[in-house]
Amino acid sequence: MTVLPYSVNKREVWNRFVEESKQGTFLLDRNFMDYHADRFFDCSLLVYNDDNNDAELSDDSLIALFPANWVEKEKTVYSHQGLTYGGLITKASITQSEVLKIMQKILMYYADYLGASTLMYRAIPYIYSKVPSQEDLYALFRAGAQLEGRAVATVLSVANPLIMRTLRVRKAKKALECGFYIERMREGDEACLREYWQVLEDVLATYHDAKPVHSADEMALLMSRFPKNIRLFVVRDTNARIVSGIVVFETENVAHIQYIASAAEGRKYGALDLLLRHICGEKYRDKEFIDFGISTENGGHVLNEGLIFQKEGFGGRAVCYDVYRLELKRNRLLKMADVAPEGGRRNVPFLDLKAINESFEPELSNSMLRAVQSGWYLFGEENRLFEQEWSRYVGTANAVLCANGLDALTLILRAYRTLRGWQDGDEVIVPANTYIASILAIREAGLKPVLVEPSMCDYNIRAKECQKALTDKTRAIMVVHLYGRVCCDIGNITALAKENNLVVVEDAAQAHGAMWQGRRAGHLGDAAGFSFYPGKNLGALGDAGCVVTDDGELARVVRCMANYGSSRKYVNEMEGINSRTDEVQAAVLRVKLPRLDKDNEHRRLIASKYMEGIKNPMIQLPLWPRDEQECVWHVFPIRCAERDTLQKYLAEAGVHTLIHYPIAPHKQQALSHLEHWPLPLTQRIHEEELSLPISPLMTVEDAEYVISLINKFVK
Ligand SMILES: *Cc1c(COP(=O)(O)O)cnc(C)c1O
Repeated sequence: MTVLPYSVNKREVWNRFVEESKQGTFLLDRNFMDYHADRFFDCSLLVYNDDNNDAELSDDSLIALFPANWVEKEKTVYSHQGLTYGGLITKASITQSEVLKIMQKILMYYADYLGASTLMYRAIPYIYSKVPSQEDLYALFRAGAQLEGRAVATVLSVANPLIMRTLRVRKAKKALECGFYIERMREGDEACLREYWQVLEDVLATYHDAKPVHSADEMALLMSRFPKNIRLFVVRDTNARIVSGIVVFETENVAHIQYIASAAEGRKYGALDLLLRHICGEKYRDKEFIDFGISTENGGHVLNEGLIFQKEGFGGRAVCYDVYRLELKRNRLLKMADVAPEGGRRNVPFLDLKAINESFEPELSNSMLRAVQSGWYLFGEENRLFEQEWSRYVGTANAVLCANGLDALTLILRAYRTLRGWQDGDEVIVPANTYIASILAIREAGLKPVLVEPSMCDYNIRAKECQKALTDKTRAIMVVHLYGRVCCDIGNITALAKENNLVVVEDAAQAHGAMWQGRRAGHLGDAAGFSFYPGKNLGALGDAGCVVTDDGELARVVRCMANYGSSRKYVNEMEGINSRTDEVQAAVLRVKLPRLDKDNEHRRLIASKYMEGIKNPMIQLPLWPRDEQECVWHVFPIRCAERDTLQKYLAEAGVHTLIHYPIAPHKQQALSHLEHWPLPLTQRIHEEELSLPISPLMTVEDAEYVISLINKFVK
């Protein structure tokens, strides 16, 4: 689908489309709209369906029009001309779900290209549609529109009118007895128009403290452009003076009455009744509706009760025309077209990274552009500022960016090795069920991973297990806050480490923002490694990682080691590596960090829905932490003995899950040489674990869909 702004050379195409559309009224004709264009900045759109041909946009592929004006200082798009109605105009063949997508495109266009923050929408009344439909309103509601105002009009259904009141008929008769007569203004009879306009202006000024929207000159011009569509009917008295009148806009099915007025004499003797009886009872019998229009007198705030009463006296009914206000929030717009397909089937991605990153636009792209245009690509301002912001967030004195999470962990261990004189084969205790990166980092630093079993409640290790694994070669404990959950025994683990002069390194790659007793993950041990892999809770658009620590000397060595072992150019103090975060990634992270807490909060909401909703004896849920801040739900892990069948069942219903992880590290070919105890718990986790979809953009409805599927799952 492609959206283009209207331009004058599309006038013919526009008019033809309006005529053939579901809502073909001349009020949406370009001639009519352009006539008003000097008062408004036109931001009308044309929507083309070019999905299956990549060639030029042909007029045949036009599927919708959106007439609208733009008021820059209000940052607001009005879907109407301020005078009449507006809203989406579509081809008759367009379906409701297509309307949703079309509206989404249009709204995104206004938000992205115009920088609009609000849309005011006054829908075309259903009486103007050949096919009754309120599909555009449905789309608006899905985008979060609120009712802004409600205007009362009176509409007469010609086939099914209310009973005409005798009082009105009697008054009409009286008018005839007084010698009043009806006259239709002949084409070009400007004198007639001007005389009536004087009456109209006087009446509005006297009774309603208002002025007609159009001046007589403007009406004359409009009438000359639409001789077939705009008519003036007047009532004259015995002296041939105009005492009352009505302007009618004729469309195919509807006579749209405007500018009703009756001077004092006309009021006294029922001139308007005479006119309305003629219009309703004779003149427009062939129309489907007679629309008496919205009363805009007194700004439309005070209804002209007398007038409504009179119109009802001729068989009309009060109907409401509504105006909607829509705040153009990108997040909401992105989701508005996600409808459950037939049978309630939904598509629930595991983690929709594209949508997540799009929800940071346009700031995300702007930040990258800023980085690119700065001319600094490494070790620049973005790096410096993000390190500052990240260390402030985590609460540590230092943060050192590097290339990825694996490097962060490796650099910590290598730096400690240098500072503390650890030897090849010195041991680091690490949970056996971690992602392989934790173990590879230990190996990379020339140390020996000692695998310990986790708790089956929260999949994290306990101090007691670590104690059993202690030897005189143990130098460090690597705690992994797996699945986004802080290792709850971290207090005992740091105490154990202290007693035995060990270092506690946190692998915080899955736990951005998690908190234990008021301290963030990453500030619970001696040093921590973070990964900003795209799928993490705080993710870059590529690779990045970070070391955080309160230890200034450690930070210095890590920084030096990550830069070829050099703190001064071409002077190498140690054998380092090349591990950096580029400026573009740092800039991206700076845009995304301020929303991290809110995103984690949303993950907690989804997790809580799963916890409350999933009730299937075959499913083992994770333990809800005593303090919910302890977990940021990087993944939502459940266990099921029939895991593979469950995964297939969910996939067939559109729910995408992952396994963290299918093969335990000690079962990997790469680590087949690793010594270890039997690890039955770890083995079991890898056989049974399944991660359900969870993300900052996932909706509660999505979660409920997943829950209902899981609850229906049987062996
Ligand atoms: C992602 C991850 C890493 C490694 O991060 P990279 O940036 O991919 O190198 C390390 N440990 C754990 C637990 C992880 O989830």
